[in-house]
Amino acid sequence: MTPKTGLKGKIFIVSAPSGCGKTTLCKKLLKDKVKLHQSVSITTRPPRRGERNGADYFFVSAEEFIRMIDAKDLLEYEENFGFLYGTPKKAVEDLLHKGRNVLLSIDVKGAMNVRKSYPQNSVLIFVMPPSMEELKNRLESREADTAKAITNRLKVAKQEVACRDKYDYVVVNDRLDAAYKKLKDIILLEGERPCRDPQ
Ligand code: ADP
Ligand code: 5GP
Repeated sequence: MTPKTGLKGKIFIVSAPSGCGKTTLCKKLLKDKVKLHQSVSITTRPPRRGERNGADYFFVSAEEFIRMIDAKDLLEYEENFGFLYGTPKKAVEDLLHKGRNVLLSIDVKGAMNVRKSYPQNSVLIFVMPPSMEELKNRLESREADTAKAITNRLKVAKQEVACRDKYDYVVVNDRLDAAYKKLKDIILLEGERPCRDPQ
């Protein structure tokens, strides 16, 4: 995709290994008085307990997801843990055209692709777990995955953490309140800055 220029809003991309706490942090941001619009991703993964269609994700079939890829409705998409995940293009671009800031909570590969497509607008934030042991505890406490799935998520987590230097900011989610404050400060600071100049 040719890089898009001239859009006014910022895209805040938050990535973190699964179970690190990015959903918790992003939900706090959206409840707070930070001017941000969450992009709701589309996925073929089944909903977890408590997840709502249209709020946490749009849950669709693999056939529907492939139809969206073919129709070029997705800004980016990736496969994670055997399921497809993608960002809806129109909803995000409509917000950027209006100068609104958008929050994407997506994986490392997706983050890199969004930055390539929207280099002037993207701000990349990586959320780190305090340790792999604590990440394992959090995955277990969520009670959403089997032991085998948790082992797989931890393996992917190590690969993702190794990419943190590609991000503009790194926040360690040790104590939730402290991590939240850092994340919010970054968003408020970057929200005030103009978009980057074209390269
Ligand atoms: P992610 O969206 O990154 O997969 P979640 O937000 O679902 O992760 O968090 C995974 C689990 O860890 C949840 O049970 C959540 O309540 C817990 N959690 C999140 N942040 C912290 C923190 N700073 N300290 C302790 N537990 C946390
Ligand atoms: P989970 O199943 O734990 O909700 O998400 C698994 C992984 O998929 C996480 O790393 C999450 O950030 C990522 N993800 C969620 N939505 C998207 C998306 O729209 N695009 C991409 N590339 N990754 C996503």
